[in-house]
Parts: sequence; structure tokens; C-alpha cells
Amino acid sequence: MDERTFFGLLLPAWFVLAGVVAVALLFVTAPYGRHARAGWGPALPARIGWMVMEAPAPLLFAACWAAGGAPVDQPALAYLALFELHYLHRAFVFPLRLAPGAGPVPLSVMGMALVFNLGNAYLQGRWLFHFATPDPPAWLASAPFLAGLLLFGAGFAINLHADGVLRRLRRGGEGYRIPQGGLFRRVSCPNYLGEIMEWCGWALATFSWAGLAFAVWTAANLVPRALAHHRWYREQFPEYPQERKALVPWVL
Ligand code: NDP
Repeated sequence: MDERTFFGLLLPAWFVLAGVVAVALLFVTAPYGRHARAGWGPALPARIGWMVMEAPAPLLFAACWAAGGAPVDQPALAYLALFELHYLHRAFVFPLRLAPGAGPVPLSVMGMALVFNLGNAYLQGRWLFHFATPDPPAWLASAPFLAGLLLFGAGFAINLHADGVLRRLRRGGEGYRIPQGGLFRRVSCPNYLGEIMEWCGWALATFSWAGLAFAVWTAANLVPRALAHHRWYREQFPEYPQERKALVPWVL
């Protein structure tokens, strides 16, 4: 089978798999952090776990860029910059800044995250730098790209801010507390909301099926987890703010 055929089969399969994952995660919450439980095998400390499962994404995406002839036209560089901005932070800065008390990550969870990161970086990187017709520089001034960039930037800022609030809470002492401030006034998981916004922005900016698959996968992972976090907060804290939603202010 040649690579184009493989890519053409993988992409729709990736959408289907996202649907399966979303349904599965509604019933079985991924067992790390506050939802950790016995029976999921050995675990690694959070810092190492996050680095090992996330680092392949920026490396493989950069390798796809190089394999695609290392294009230096402006749209190609913009896509490279956005993806690497997010993933170099997630793979190296985020883990190193995690509070020492952050819960370990089971190898089983790491394995599933690795499969996602490798498949996703391949789909994004090979589409943008190999299979797709390169976007002209004028694309960077188009409405979809600019709207996508805005959404990506806003999502990145929300994600960073919310993860910072949680990190400071965790550093403040043992155990979990009710996060306050910023978008936590409206939702339990603004970090997940920001992450979903980022990849919806990416889908718009790249205007590609591969980009849409990334946004769908992110939602498939994080909507069920946000619902689980929200239920957990309500069970743990009788005083939990009633008006706070799980993920989307006033809606969900
Ligand atoms: P969580 O919000 O569950 O936890 C983030 C960190 O904050 C953990 O160290 C956690 O500790 C700590 N923490 C969370 N809530 C509290 C609290 N109430 N009191 C004290 N400490 C708290 O996020 P995840 O670990 O699931 O995700 C981390 C990042 O990775 C997020 O930015 C998320 O968007 C991203 N991510 C992206 C995915 C994707 O599909 N693209 C999938 C999963 C995550 P502990 O670990 O001990 O619970």
C-alpha cells in the first residue's frame, strides 16, 4: 500500500476512533490524577510521564516538516510555529513546572496518549507539509486563518492561566481545593476549555480534515473528563459553587 492510500484510510478511521474513545471515556474515566485507581498497572512520576508521552508529538511534527522539504513559506512556518509552541510547552515546560505532589501517570494511560500523539502528529504533519497543496501567503490574511489564530491564541492563554492556578493550588498544600478566579468562576475545567479552543482554532486556520480530526479528538478526550471532574468536585465539596458549569460557561 502506498502512503497516500494509507493516509486516506487512516484519516476517516481516526474520526471513527475519536467517537469510540469519547463514548468509552464517558463510562471509564482515564485513571490518572484525581481519578487514579488500582488495576491500571505501574505508573511513572508525573513529570517523566508527561514528557515521555508528549515529546514524540513535536518531534514527529518537526520531522514531517523536514521530510516535506523544510518549507519556509509563511503559511508553513505559521503552522510549524503554532504546533511547536503548544507542544514544546506541553512536553517540556508544563511537566517541569508541575507541582511535586502531582499524581503519577500509569504506563497504560501513557501508551494510549503515545498512540494518539504519534498518529495525530503524523496526520497533521504529513497533510500540511506533504499531501496538501501549499497555502499561498495571502491565506494568512484570510478570515478563516485569522479567526483560527485568534481562537488558538485565546485558548492557549486560557489553558496556561488555568493550569497555573491549579499548579499554585497544588503547591499550596496537600490535597485538592476549589479553584478560584478567572474562568474558574464559570467552569470547573477552563484548562480543558482552552485546549479545545486551541485545536478548533487550528482546524480553522489550517482548514483541513486533519485539523478537524485533531479538534474532534481533543473534545473526545476532554469533554468526558471535564464532566467527570465536575461531578467529582460536587461530590467532594458540598459548598461547590452551584452556578459553575463543567466546561462551557452557562451551557455545559
Ligand atoms: P487536571 O486539571 O486534572 O490537573 C492539572 C494539575 O493540577 C495536576 O497536577 C493536578 O494534580 C492539579 N490539580 C487539578 N485540580 C486541582 C485542585 N482542585 N486542587 C489542587 N490541585 C489540582 O489536568 P490534566 O492533568 O488532565 O491535564 C493537564 C493539561 O494537559 C491540561 O492543560 C489539559 O488541557 C492537557 N491535556 C490535553 C489532552 C488532549 O487530549 N489534548 C488530554 C489530557 C490533558 P493531580 O494530577 O494530582 O490530580
